[in-house]
Amino acid sequence: MSGKNCFEILDKIFEPKNKENIEDIKGYSIKYGNIVEKDKIIDEVLVSYFKEPKSYTTENMCEINSHGGNIVMKKILELCLKNGAVLAEPGEFTKRAFLNGRIDLAQAESVIDVINAKSEKEAKAGIKQLEGGLSKEIAAIKQEILDVMVNIEVAIDYPEYDVEDVTNKQILDMLDSVEIKLKKLEKSFDNGKIIKEGIKTAIIGKPNAGKSSLLNRILKEDRAIVTEFEGTTRDTIEEFVNINGIPLKLIDTAGIRIAEDEVEKIGIHKSKEIAKEADLIIAIFDASKDLSKEDKEILEIIKGKKSIIILNKIDLERKLQKNDEHFKNLTNSIIEISALNNIGIDKLYSEITKLFDLNEINVDNDLVITNIRHKNLISKSIETINKTRKIINEKMPVDIVAVYIKEILEDLGNITGEFVTEDIINEIFSKFCLGK
Ligand code: GDP
Repeated sequence: MSGKNCFEILDKIFEPKNKENIEDIKGYSIKYGNIVEKDKIIDEVLVSYFKEPKSYTTENMCEINSHGGNIVMKKILELCLKNGAVLAEPGEFTKRAFLNGRIDLAQAESVIDVINAKSEKEAKAGIKQLEGGLSKEIAAIKQEILDVMVNIEVAIDYPEYDVEDVTNKQILDMLDSVEIKLKKLEKSFDNGKIIKEGIKTAIIGKPNAGKSSLLNRILKEDRAIVTEFEGTTRDTIEEFVNINGIPLKLIDTAGIRIAEDEVEKIGIHKSKEIAKEADLIIAIFDASKDLSKEDKEILEIIKGKKSIIILNKIDLERKLQKNDEHFKNLTNSIIEISALNNIGIDKLYSEITKLFDLNEINVDNDLVITNIRHKNLISKSIETINKTRKIINEKMPVDIVAVYIKEILEDLGNITGEFVTEDIINEIFSKFCLGK
């Protein structure tokens, strides 16, 4: 419970073994006792006390730790509600922390990221943001803009002094410098997206090429952490694997594993559909056979896409070689493996690392944007920077330039929630789960 009356409500339902006045109980302390309803003991509990402003929400807070279990927890919750508490909305605790100024919006949003993290890297990126990494960077950029804005205001307020030319140069230098920083953040989003969502990977190939063998090989990898969830398209399953820090979201793993008699049904059409969704296509060919018509169609599908060609079954007598004429005009890497005998799979992983610059993702040192809202605001600021440059070059009066610069400041301020509207705040916190 959080808020003005939480200790009063607690007092009605909690009988500590050592009763003290609330004024005498220190924050960050724990009391042992029973939750009771009309002298009937509901459960034996520990209650933690947090006193304003030193709590998650900055309000008075208490946390009841019961033995758990549905019935008892529900009963305690009911008792709280009956005595005046109101059920928290999703994310309400974090929202209060934001509204009360303990954390900014970017930090609040990172709480969701930490909770939902599927990989260590993602959790780290979230924690870093929670510590205020992004907020500090944005504040520094805004300060740089504000420093120049002061001069602009002077130029507007005292037009009799001819400072405009000086200011224009200053503005342009500042815009260049700010743009470099924002572009770096914008670019980090691609990496952030990979960390957060995984590389959406499709394994395609004609029936019997070895898709399901490769899939199983990947899923069985020693250090793979596998999470399974519903795919975006109906009836598909996606599996999130994390192999040596490479986060792969394998699309349509159910389709790949479909029973053999149904194999013929997943034709080229389906492969096309799956390939459309993918960030990475692994196209697998049976190296013990010549290229078939279907194989050639698959080569068509991967043209111009981030993709890797796999020649599987190299343990068998070879028909298909790396230097086959059909591979000639492709820029793809070709990797030879035996899914069955676990040969060459590590080469596949290092190729993926290379293809996506994954070595460059250094969550420990670099700031990584993982939130699309932040990314959009940064991209919009960069656009406005370009517009500002243009109107300066068109010799527009400085008060018009100021309007544009203010827009940049406002958009950046929206990241940390300075000027953000209530609708946006509500939308952000509705994504939280209850009780966070
Ligand atoms: P899919 O239809 O593309 O999913 O192909 P599967 O993975 O089901 O493989 C088809 C057949 O090829 C199975 O009998 C596998 O055991 C076999 N196979 C897969 N990979 C290899 C390999 O590297 N070497 C050999 N010799 N057989 C393989």
